[in-house]
Amino acid sequence: MQGQAPKEIGSLSFGLMDPEEYRNMSATKVITADTYDDDGFPIDMGLMDPRLGVIDPGLECKTCGKHSGSCNGHFGHIELAQAVIHVGHAKLIRRLLRGTCRECSRLCLTENEKDEFRSRLDRTRQLGEDLNDVTKAAIRLARKKDRCPHCGEKQYDINHEKPTTYYEVQQVLSSEYPERIAAAMEGRDPDAEGDEAETDREPISPNALAQETGIDLERVNQILSGEFRPKRDDREAIEQALEIDLTEEDMNKLMASDVRDWFEDIPDEDVKVLGIDPEKSRPEWMILTVLPVPPVTARPSITLDNGQRSEDDLTHKLVDIIRINQRFMENREAGAPQLIIEDLWELLQYHVTTFMDNEISGTPPARHRSGRPLKTLSQRLKGKEGRFRGSLSGKRVNFSARTVISPDPTLSLNEVGVPDRVASEMTQTMNVNDRNLADARRYVLGGRPPPHRRRHRHLQPAAVAAPDVHHGPRGRGDAVQDVPAEHDRMRRRRYAGRLRRLRTAD
Ligand SMILES: [Zn+2]
Ligand SMILES: [Zn+2]
Repeated sequence: MQGQAPKEIGSLSFGLMDPEEYRNMSATKVITADTYDDDGFPIDMGLMDPRLGVIDPGLECKTCGKHSGSCNGHFGHIELAQAVIHVGHAKLIRRLLRGTCRECSRLCLTENEKDEFRSRLDRTRQLGEDLNDVTKAAIRLARKKDRCPHCGEKQYDINHEKPTTYYEVQQVLSSEYPERIAAAMEGRDPDAEGDEAETDREPISPNALAQETGIDLERVNQILSGEFRPKRDDREAIEQALEIDLTEEDMNKLMASDVRDWFEDIPDEDVKVLGIDPEKSRPEWMILTVLPVPPVTARPSITLDNGQRSEDDLTHKLVDIIRINQRFMENREAGAPQLIIEDLWELLQYHVTTFMDNEISGTPPARHRSGRPLKTLSQRLKGKEGRFRGSLSGKRVNFSARTVISPDPTLSLNEVGVPDRVASEMTQTMNVNDRNLADARRYVLGGRPPPHRRRHRHLQPAAVAAPDVHHGPRGRGDAVQDVPAEHDRMRRRRYAGRLRRLRTAD
């Protein structure tokens, strides 16, 4: 933007970033968790690589050639050894998993239903209303489908274990199916034990069962001995005949890479039905394969009195991510058992999640050795002390009223609106001496100019009060009352009097 004329912004659009875009904007790939060498110089391809910007005065940025202060810093990137879920999109990922086919990835809606939702989206857009209600309804309808309307594949329910784990819940044949069938045939309740198992069920012979279900007697005996696992149709026939349930829930955990493969196949046309513009955001980008590394200038290290460096919380977190990422790659190359690989993947997921948000319910926060929780990305932005409320919409200056900066369409970008009442009582410190005493008193007594003269003079001091004008204790949340003119004049006289006494006292 430097050296360019200011541009008028036509519109803003928000979307996800393509991993390729992360790589393109990156000044360097970061591969080592080490930060400085023995001489205190930043290590190449480390987290403090001088291509990511400089903070030490005197050093030169290796990307833009500028010195600290004029270089804003540049992003780097980490190639993740395994895909991880972006915790900020956990809910949308769940929705897409529930609404699309596990086999062909298409939205589980018929063409007619899709058309219907497309036109509902158009209407909602025109009215400027929330698209969420429409997309939610589309997912709800798609989720109800037992089978995919396109490829016919059976669909399973998706269980979301917060923050970032997803399971496919499948009803599979219970491992105790022979025992359960035998119990039911003897007239016992397969779910109860001991005396409670007595029911008024009629015992039924294998022969009778074979007749009732239409299964061969030989097959019935094989099923009863556990030699043969009944197929779905046979299982359902036996379940119906004996009034029992032979299934149990099987939780099939979805790896982030599985979810990514799944989403990659969702057609653009179906993505549009969900109110997402596929040109700007593809669903698979919600699963990260590349992690952007913020510039050094966004996470400056500080040098303590004893000369030791203290790194920013974000840098600490990035060190964790790189270490686990490396261990993951080493273990995978060495052919480590699946269990170890899965543990490391979960650890990588944990570090990336807490890098983005360290206050997720159900996830233990990452801490310093002292026990203090790390302040990571989300914590920098959120809440009263965060970037939005703390740094952007509120500024403090001396002797001023306190206010929250809010937008005002009648103001230009480089103007600040100040209420008349506040502007007419601007405080300026002034050392009062014999030569300026008369002036000081005049300023105090002067008060506010009449309203018609005050327009467009907002930031000019109308009154100067030598002792800080003190409003007395005002409780939090008290309404600020309009001070009547008479009261204002008396108050000013009081201050002028105080000014005189102050002078005569010494
Ligand atoms: Zn630079
Ligand atoms: Zn399908």
